[in-house]
Amino acid sequence: MRDTIYDVIIIGGSYAGLSAALQLARARRRVLIIDEGLRRNRSASHSHGFITQDGVDPAVIAAQARAQVMDYATVDWLAGRADGVQLAKNREPASQHIEVTGGAWRHASRRLILALGVTDSFRRSRA
Ligand SMILES: Cc1cc2nc3c(=O)[nH]c(=O)nc-3n(C[C@H](O)[C@H](O)[C@H](O)COP(=O)(O)OP(=O)(O)OC[C@H]3O[C@@H](n4cnc5c(N)ncnc54)[C@H](O)[C@@H]3O)c2cc1C
Repeated sequence: MRDTIYDVIIIGGSYAGLSAALQLARARRRVLIIDEGLRRNRSASHSHGFITQDGVDPAVIAAQARAQVMDYATVDWLAGRADGVQLAKNREPASQHIEVTGGAWRHASRRLILALGVTDSFRRSRA
């Protein structure tokens, strides 16, 4: 595990995760965004109903949001899947932190935001 204990780890770096990260970055928090890059609308080429962005490619909106968030020096990005979350066992409750693990890495934070989105599962109807 690295020495850094982030203020917040955000699992999910799409619209919700990036929105949360932006507010935290502006408050000078140390943030790690972990994202495996599977936005729910990745198959869509145009977005609708989002003011100022009607008709824009949702990948462009996500890329712009990511670039703006990553301009803040206190934000790190990890491309990959988070597989596990656990409370680290510390004797001092005040220094307790959360550990997030993936394939070959482990990171720690004081707070955790899950911005995982939803997964569409397609089933054939029996009708
Ligand atoms: C075909 C389609 C068209 C759409 N069109 C519109 C539209 O025109 N206008 C509109 O407002 N909405 C639209 N939506 C809805 C929109 O896509 C969702 O509201 C939006 O993507 C939700 O954002 P989110 O950040 O909550 O989740 P998501 O965009 O789903 O992002 C979740 C992120 O978390 C990551 N993640 C999940 N689990 C893990 C893990 N364990 N470790 C690491 N990363 C993880 C995923 O890889 C993903 O990048 C559309 C959806 C679909 C399917």
